[in-house]
Amino acid sequence: MANLTVFLSLVALTFCGLAMAFEPSPLQDFCVADPSSSAKVNGFLCKDPKMVQASDFFFSGLHLPGNTSNPNGSKVTAVNVAQIPGLNTLGVSLVRIDYEPMGINPPHTHPRATEIILVLQGVLEVGFVTSNPDNRLISKVLKTGDVFVFPVGLVHFQRNVGSTKAVAFAGLSSQNPGVITIANAVFGSDPDISADILAKAFQVDKNTVSNIQSKF
Ligand code: MN
Repeated sequence: MANLTVFLSLVALTFCGLAMAFEPSPLQDFCVADPSSSAKVNGFLCKDPKMVQASDFFFSGLHLPGNTSNPNGSKVTAVNVAQIPGLNTLGVSLVRIDYEPMGINPPHTHPRATEIILVLQGVLEVGFVTSNPDNRLISKVLKTGDVFVFPVGLVHFQRNVGSTKAVAFAGLSSQNPGVITIANAVFGSDPDISADILAKAFQVDKNTVSNIQSKF
């Protein structure tokens, strides 16, 4: 009997952990974000459902290419809870990504979301790296109509290896996936991570570290 109780408790904890690891399932039709509230919760408080309108679930503009005039030659246009308050608590969002030829979406991770990407136009080399100790690179070249998945938390990237501009759309499993761009986080933190630490971590001299830091 005691064993059964322990077992059932473990099962309950397991399912509780699974349910709480990501955005919890909604307990109502919707919880449109009310960003004006000063109360702090995991997400946003709900707007009065009687005041909710179609515009709370709407965004227009993803037909427009993003401005790719930057060192990476790419632009991510995000549509998450910041753009659509009706996404609050629903665990999903969307991005459009534009790429110049040889443009990259640099190595980055989404701490709160798995990403599923669809190539709408062009040819993209994509990849992600598994966690330690294997750090295996899993990569593929995608053409128009191809779909690829970047599992939650793993470092991933894309590069336009075609001769024309490329366009992709991606769904993400969070209303607020978050982005950590590896180069910016490591070499562009504010204040800087000590050059000694980075020199040792990357097995290079401090001048090389300072040189990279100066670019961020
Ligand atoms: Mn991504």
